[in-house]
Amino acid sequence: MDRRAFLTNTALTAAAISSYGMMACNRLKSEDKLFLLRYDTEWWGEENEMEGFFEKLIEVHRANSIPATFFCTGNTLTNRTEVFRAFYNEVKHDALFDFQDHSFNHIGLCKKEGQGLTFEELKSDYEKSFSIHNEVFEKMPVGISLCGTPGESYKAFDVNEKTKAEFEMLANLGMKMINTYLLELDGSKEFCNYSSLGHPEIMGFPSGYSDTDWGWKNKETKGPAYILDEIKMRSGNNEHMPLMLHDWVAWQHAEDKELTHVKMFADQARKYNYKLVTHIECYQDKRIWKTTT
Ligand SMILES: [Zn+2]
Repeated sequence: MDRRAFLTNTALTAAAISSYGMMACNRLKSEDKLFLLRYDTEWWGEENEMEGFFEKLIEVHRANSIPATFFCTGNTLTNRTEVFRAFYNEVKHDALFDFQDHSFNHIGLCKKEGQGLTFEELKSDYEKSFSIHNEVFEKMPVGISLCGTPGESYKAFDVNEKTKAEFEMLANLGMKMINTYLLELDGSKEFCNYSSLGHPEIMGFPSGYSDTDWGWKNKETKGPAYILDEIKMRSGNNEHMPLMLHDWVAWQHAEDKELTHVKMFADQARKYNYKLVTHIECYQDKRIWKTTT
C-alpha cells in the first residue's frame, strides 16, 4: 500500500471508530455485563455449502438487533471476494456489524519453538490479510481474534521474548483489539489493556465458548442448551459472556438454516440482563477496559 492510501485508510478507520464511539457513548456502563458475539469467518470449501448464509444472517441480526463482529481470514476474503463485498456493502453503515481480522492462512501465534511459523512468516501473513481487508472492506482492520491451531502453544503473550515479540509485531501493525492473553488473567472472562507489555492503548477482550466444541464436535452431548445454561450461570456470577461462532458451523452444523440458535442465545442474554455489543463498541468505551490490569 502506498503512503497516500495508508493515510486515507487511517483516516477512514479513525472516522469509523469515532462514529461508533459517539453512538456507543452513554449506552454502556462500566458495571454492565456484556455479551460479545462474534463469527470467525473462515470457510475454505465449496461456495454452495454456504449459500444463503449472509442473506439469512443480515435478516436475523437486523430483525432482532443482534450486534456481531466478523473476524475474517484473508484467505476467505480472497477466495470469496464478491460474496464478502456484497455483504459488506449491505451492512457497512449499520453499527450492528463490525469487521475485523483472523489472519490470512489461519496461523497460530505464541507457538512453542519449532511448532509454528517464523516471526517473518507470521508478520507477512498478517500484512497480506490486512491488505485484502482493505481492498474488500475499504478500511484496515484494528482487531484480530487469535486462531486455534494444532501443536503446542505458550499460554500468553507475556511468557517470554518470543511471545512478546509477536505481540509487539501486532501492535506495530496497528492492532487495537486482541484476545485477552496474559498469564494473570482469565481470557474467557476479562477485558484488559496491554500496559504490562507497553501498550495501554490496546484492548484485550474475552473469548470463549467456540461452537466447534458445543455445536460440532460435542454437539450430541452439549448443543445450544449448553450455551443457554452458561449464559444463565455467568449472569449469576456477574461475568461477561463471550460467544465464538464460526460461519461454517453456524450454517452447516446447526439444526436449521434459520440461525434459530443465534436468536435464542440473544434472547437468553437479554433475559439475563446482558448488553449485546460489538468488539469495536467495547474498544470505544474505555471505561470497560482501560482501568483493568
Ligand atoms: Zn479460526
